[in-house]
Amino acid sequence: MSKIAASIPQMLVPVLPTWEAIRPFAERIDQSNVYSNDGPLNQLFCERFAEYIQGRLVHSADISVATVTNGTAAIELALRVRVPKAASSYVMMPSYTFIATAHAVKNAGFEPFFLDTDVETLTLTPEIVRAAIVAYGKPAAVIVVSPFGGPVDVEAWEHFEADTGVLVIFDLAASVTSIRRVSNQPICISLHATKMIGTGEGGAIISTDSEFIAQVKKTASFGFGTGTRVSEVPGGNYRISEYAAAIGLASLEMISDKISMLFDKAEAYKRALRHSDVQFQVGFGQEWIAMTMNVILNAARVQETLEALDKKGIPWRRWWSKGCHTHPAFAGAPCAKLFNTELVAYRTIGVPFHVKITQAEIELVSETIAEVGT
Ligand SMILES: *Cc1c(COP(=O)(O)O)cnc(C)c1O
Repeated sequence: MSKIAASIPQMLVPVLPTWEAIRPFAERIDQSNVYSNDGPLNQLFCERFAEYIQGRLVHSADISVATVTNGTAAIELALRVRVPKAASSYVMMPSYTFIATAHAVKNAGFEPFFLDTDVETLTLTPEIVRAAIVAYGKPAAVIVVSPFGGPVDVEAWEHFEADTGVLVIFDLAASVTSIRRVSNQPICISLHATKMIGTGEGGAIISTDSEFIAQVKKTASFGFGTGTRVSEVPGGNYRISEYAAAIGLASLEMISDKISMLFDKAEAYKRALRHSDVQFQVGFGQEWIAMTMNVILNAARVQETLEALDKKGIPWRRWWSKGCHTHPAFAGAPCAKLFNTELVAYRTIGVPFHVKITQAEIELVSETIAEVGT
């Protein structure tokens, strides 16, 4: 079989709208001379962002959106506005997540309490948190994290919250396009360049609770009441500029192309790896897609596979390291037993994946992985 020589693929290539696509929106700034403070472009972005998400839901819902400086700030603000301090100083969260989740908890004035993760879904389940409540007591809240862009079971968490009284906040930073259900439980989204809808840096909080979103907007803008310069609640400056909103509007226009290109790349990988024992996250490449792709390796072959990749100079990454509890910044944080986290973190490996990856590059990575141990 003759082959096109494959170059070494890059790990991740973010693709944001070109200047040409941004220009029509950005030029409106020259007309309005409004550069921030919930200007016309931010309002338009919030509106279109809400419409986009609403159009993908499996139920009808009227959702409200607040934009904020980044995904980490979104989690921080959701906690500040929704969760009373009196309840407990702890916020339960999976150790297996991007470290931003733990920083957000700390910045909001709580202590992270790390829980184990489900081996199948790579995320928390209501059962894991219920067991932790029995063992350690009720936290002030729980943060449920989307596993690398995969969907979370919003209905199950609505029941959990109703039953236990423990407030739920979703860190769906990397999974805006996987949202199929929205409740009053805040969903925190990142608009970072490496996420599905990017503005460079940016974030958003969505919820069906418009009062809550109004409170978030107030907190994100010095606590000012609508149309006033009276600071009603403690807050800060977490606003995005009109320039960021212009990029967001252009980003929304390219999202369906981006999604279908990523689905194609995922399919090519799955085809190339179909005879191997490599697993993928549940529903990945069928029900949902993200900017990253993980292979779930047979634990016995992880070390050899990583060595084989290294030998060819192919990049790989444990996107979420070995869990938040292994970072010095959170070494002292309380945690439950983290057996699953250890296994999951060990064998879940990010491989090169992006809209520009070529068929030859996909085959190079896949063959390198499939050859190990066979
Ligand atoms: C990207 C990400 C964040 C942080 O978002 P930023 O916009 O970079 O602050 C938080 N949690 C998860 C799971 C993420 O993937």
